[in-house]
Amino acid sequence: MRTIDKGQKKFQICKKCVQGNTRPGIKFDDEGVCPACRFAEKSHEVDWSERDRQMQEIIAWARARNVSGYDCIVGVSGGKDSTCQALYVRDTLGLKPLLVSSMYPPEQQTERGAHNLANLISLGFDCITVSLNPQTWKKMFWEGFFRHGNFFKPSEMVLWSCLPRAGIAYHIPLIFIGENTAISLGALEVESLDGEANQVRKTNTIQGGPESIWPKGGTEQDVIWYRFPSEFHVKKANIRMIYLGYYMKEFSRFKNAEKAVRLGLEVRDDKPEEMGMVWGWESLDDDFVIINQTLRYLKIGSGKANDQASEAVRLGLMTRKEAGRLMKMYDGKVAYRYIKQFCHYLNITEDEFWEVMDRYRNPDVWRKDGSGRWVLREEYE
Ligand SMILES: [Zn+2]
Repeated sequence: MRTIDKGQKKFQICKKCVQGNTRPGIKFDDEGVCPACRFAEKSHEVDWSERDRQMQEIIAWARARNVSGYDCIVGVSGGKDSTCQALYVRDTLGLKPLLVSSMYPPEQQTERGAHNLANLISLGFDCITVSLNPQTWKKMFWEGFFRHGNFFKPSEMVLWSCLPRAGIAYHIPLIFIGENTAISLGALEVESLDGEANQVRKTNTIQGGPESIWPKGGTEQDVIWYRFPSEFHVKKANIRMIYLGYYMKEFSRFKNAEKAVRLGLEVRDDKPEEMGMVWGWESLDDDFVIINQTLRYLKIGSGKANDQASEAVRLGLMTRKEAGRLMKMYDGKVAYRYIKQFCHYLNITEDEFWEVMDRYRNPDVWRKDGSGRWVLREEYE
């Protein structure tokens, strides 16, 4: 059970956006404002010509080491951000990228997800996909749910680890990944506030390694792609991971979604209260992610809708009051049909499902009101 980070007395909601102080690595300042809002306030001070100069150095570094024919790897899912990034790397930076994508098992992947990856490749890219043994995957998924209240641990491990693994295997040292969440969300767990992403191995999810969700009777051979390559191997292969979002001036959920939809991205048609999101242009290739966000909501008091609305407030697209109103209606919500599918996938009863969900409700964040309903300890205004 996650409690509030050391040095913070109680659950708080940022005075500028609507995110809580319970996200791993986050710490509000004395005025009760989250780091993401403070970074956003200073965004106009960013020296973009300096970042362009840094990017030119990165490009020269990669070209000098191109022995495979590919200048770089771009990690993609086919979603809005990766579609924009792949195009930016090829068309704006003028590089030859190899796209690398880790796929959900066939039982889990949505048709929409398959369509979106196909749509991205059709825009003129080479792509390799990493598809892993669904039985091992499911066992680790099960462990993630019952032991950590986070069944996305295995997919996140593969998502990050497959990139340096592919880089080593194909001799492509430069790897682009998405945004630096230390800046965009204020999650300061990896202590990197620039474009260098090699520290990604230290994030919460990866740190424990596959041991933290080891399948019963599993061996090292079962988890090859789940394990982030050792520092020794990363160094030896000269792997350099870079947050591309840091160098893209026009990088935001909203701008990326708008562009990707124009290029053929298929979005969710669920109602906001069915998917726990205000806008249905993310988390497209799998439906269980909605339940994982509900779990996060129970643990830290905010889910996906909160991420979206907080960014909208920072961009000046809505007021904090409006965001708070949307949170009460949509954050943490999930349609019953997804719970049914999830129980079927894991072969568990709905009672077992709710027993786990209840276990992860964080008492530092939630209290019962006079009528016995769970409410946040600090409510949205
Ligand atoms: Zn904030």
